[in-house]
Amino acid sequence: MTSLSNKKALVLGGSRGIGAAIVERFAREGAETRFTYAGSTEAATALAGKSGAKAIQSDSGDRQALTKTIADQGPLDILVVNAGVLVMGDPLETDPDAVDRMIDINVRSPYHAAIEAARKMNEDGRIVVIGSVNGDRMPFPGGAAYALTKSAMQGLVRGLARDFGSRGITVNAVQPGPVDTDMNPADGPMKDAMHSFMAIKRHAAPAEVAGMVTYLVGPEAGIVTGALHTIDGGFGA
Ligand code: NDP
Repeated sequence: MTSLSNKKALVLGGSRGIGAAIVERFAREGAETRFTYAGSTEAATALAGKSGAKAIQSDSGDRQALTKTIADQGPLDILVVNAGVLVMGDPLETDPDAVDRMIDINVRSPYHAAIEAARKMNEDGRIVVIGSVNGDRMPFPGGAAYALTKSAMQGLVRGLARDFGSRGITVNAVQPGPVDTDMNPADGPMKDAMHSFMAIKRHAAPAEVAGMVTYLVGPEAGIVTGALHTIDGGFGA
């Protein structure tokens, strides 16, 4: 028996990057795993084929579509809210619609998704949102809007942990530092600047983040809730 046998999991934003690593790991640990994606149909289909997880196209920026997708899954044991986007740049020049879309996906969606999942979630359920070390520390200009979306996850998990604790449901945030994905490639132009803030000067692999998430949703983490779990090579230290 593996650690997530008999568990039903939904990963929002699972087609690529950190989300895809979480989907693969959950499936390997024996969970019945489903994941959403917005535009990356090819990647989602390939991941479903190799992992056995079920791919569902659903835009986290559309609240009604998102809550319907979650309600359609029936009672879940595990919800991971990973879907997120990054808008960086001079705030005086940045398109306000792009910032609002980021707030829809990174802030409104985790809130509404967690509430909708909790309506039917089984006892001893697990909710994990993927925040960022930028919720604690934003050492560059141009990151205010992204940082605000990730700081919001801190209040969200602390509050919801209080709301759902009586049902044994835990609510936690994982806060990665730089992780090698399409959003933040390990050989990207910001690499040296980012590594200069780190004690261990490399991007994490998505699988390393998936390992922390797997612990938090597993049987040993039933008393871990309302907490921020940073995995950042010392970026925020
Ligand atoms: P990627 O851009 O590599 O992947 C993002 C994933 O989210 C894709 O599967 C994408 O699906 C999905 N997604 C994006 N928008 C939507 C949407 N509207 N609806 C449904 N799914 C969506 O990002 P990462 O893997 O790097 O990031 C994952 C999470 O980790 C994000 O929340 C990010 O903020 C956070 N993070 C990342 C760090 C990094 O250094 N990489 C550091 C700290 C935090 P599709 O392609 O189909 O749209």
